[in-house]
Amino acid sequence: MAEPKCPECGVVGLQNIVSEGSEEKSKGGDDWFDVVYCSECGHVYGVFNKISHSPSSFNPLR
Ligand SMILES: [Zn+2]
Repeated sequence: MAEPKCPECGVVGLQNIVSEGSEEKSKGGDDWFDVVYCSECGHVYGVFNKISHSPSSFNPLR
């Protein structure tokens, strides 16, 4: 897959894509979801369930 490009500001590259835990928390205090967004303009690519992805292989853009 080619380098991801932000549809909002046009920035290219994974280095401009960041993820952050959502407001939703499990009873144990862990984030349920990661919100993945553009570090340049804040465009949200999507929200990903952390439970179905191990941290080591987490890559929503693959
Ligand atoms: Zn952007």
